[in-house]
Amino acid sequence: MVNQSQKEDPRFWDKWEKSGASKRDCPDCGVKPGQPHKESCDIEPCSVCGGHFLMCNCEGHDKKFAKWNGFWPGKREAAGRGIDLNTFYEKGLNKKHFIKPKDQTQGGINESGS
Ligand SMILES: [Zn+2]
Ligand SMILES: [Zn+2]
Repeated sequence: MVNQSQKEDPRFWDKWEKSGASKRDCPDCGVKPGQPHKESCDIEPCSVCGGHFLMCNCEGHDKKFAKWNGFWPGKREAAGRGIDLNTFYEKGLNKKHFIKPKDQTQGGINESGS
């Protein structure tokens, strides 16, 4: 029997990260690092609002942008700033990291003439 509560336990993730463990499959939908999450994955971040896509279902969500990278979304970014995941969300950093930047290809930067 699988211990379902394991993925909910933040200590499990802390331990996992502190042990320097390498990338792992998504604990919810089981995809490999670099793969987009499967449908109704609990962990997939929304690329539109920065929340959980499972709950917001925003239109225009980019599954490729929100793909599983082998680490819990925000955990490493938070750790890199010396804060925990709650603070990460409190500061709105999830919006900065999870929301896909607007397409900037239009408007043309290379207008160097001729
Ligand atoms: Zn997933
Ligand atoms: Zn959303």
